[in-house]
Amino acid sequence: MADGSTLSRFDPYAARAQFPILSRTVNGKPLVYLDSAASAQKPRAVIDALTGAMEGSYSNVHRGLHTLANETTEAFEAARETVARFLNAESAEQIVWTKGGTEAINLVAAGLGQSLKSGDEIVVTQMEHHANIVPWSMLRDRLGVMLKWVPVLDDGSLDMAGLAALIGPRTKLVAVTQMSNVLGTINDVRAVADLAHAAGALVLVDGCQGAVHCAPDVQALDCDFYVFTGHKLYGPTGIGGLYGKRAALEALPPYQGGGEMIGTVTEERVTYAAVPHRFEAGTPPILEAIGLGAALDWFMGFDRTAVAAHEKALYDRVVDRLSGLNWLRIIGEAEGKGAILTFTVEGAHAHDVAQILDRYGVAVRAGTHCAEPLAKRFGVTSSARASFALYNTVEDADAFTDALIKAREFFV
Ligand SMILES: *Cc1c(COP(=O)(O)O)cnc(C)c1O
Repeated sequence: MADGSTLSRFDPYAARAQFPILSRTVNGKPLVYLDSAASAQKPRAVIDALTGAMEGSYSNVHRGLHTLANETTEAFEAARETVARFLNAESAEQIVWTKGGTEAINLVAAGLGQSLKSGDEIVVTQMEHHANIVPWSMLRDRLGVMLKWVPVLDDGSLDMAGLAALIGPRTKLVAVTQMSNVLGTINDVRAVADLAHAAGALVLVDGCQGAVHCAPDVQALDCDFYVFTGHKLYGPTGIGGLYGKRAALEALPPYQGGGEMIGTVTEERVTYAAVPHRFEAGTPPILEAIGLGAALDWFMGFDRTAVAAHEKALYDRVVDRLSGLNWLRIIGEAEGKGAILTFTVEGAHAHDVAQILDRYGVAVRAGTHCAEPLAKRFGVTSSARASFALYNTVEDADAFTDALIKAREFFV
């Protein structure tokens, strides 16, 4: 296998064995799960952390003075520390819990929206997920802020010269994905941050995919905000978060009001708690945060560079076998891309391709992948996507390729 050199550093079979769901069958075939870019499966460590918390020590956080409240608060805040370590943040106080990547971006948009004015500009790229488009377009509709779109080149890479040309004195924010959930393109977000900062603009990095495949380091990236989501990081749904530079977070007004986020409340006025609690109104996703902490502790136990090399080797193995086929179009072939394969099959709707693959036990996503401007850029109304994770094996890759070649017969 192509990644033989990394096998000694990462054993996908041992990793896979920790995912109970991966031993089930689908339509009488072994499950081949290639939809991890939509949501990843959960290892035993996460399942045990969730049930362990519910069985062993659970309560609301911060409010009580009893033993369970203290233990749960400690576990909840320890998970925040784990996220800080995972992202190489300066401190855990710079990690805000949200229910996912989408809410984290909305939190920033709502906060910045209080000071942006008509004529201010936000630079986004054509390869963004709707989560990193719609909150900004809402500001456009409400405030008259302008959105400027960085083009994507034919190979799926970002037009960095185009980006440099779009950033100007009115640019307040550049919102860019670290890794495209469709093209697999990995952007040089440090270079984006340097360009933005030179113009006095902030940078928000959508790390929902990058956190999984790029071993993120927010200090090296020098981003002002970094967004991630738990369920793609082998953790539970309902949890994600926002990293921010201290000054960037402190400059943001609160997002939602309620319990936990206040200093004091009187009939006349309210003061707010310090960052990050200021942004966490109400009972937070306690179990989900503990589950994500367990997921990241588990994930950091691997050599993540070796994991990414393994995933890419599987991608390369599939692409090698498919590359001569004239009925298949691959969208996104940027240099250094990650292990996401988006494609169309001539004469077939992507939904039909996905449904036929499902008969072979192969799970892929089909549609526009929450990135309609990108679909339009490549002139497709829908596409299928196979995305690789650490638990996928050579057998998965070959089962997918075999099933796709058989699926093609339904359309000729
Ligand atoms: C999944 C994803 C999001 C949104 O994350 P949610 O968990 O749905 O909030 C945003 N950006 C990218 C690149 C994604 O892959």
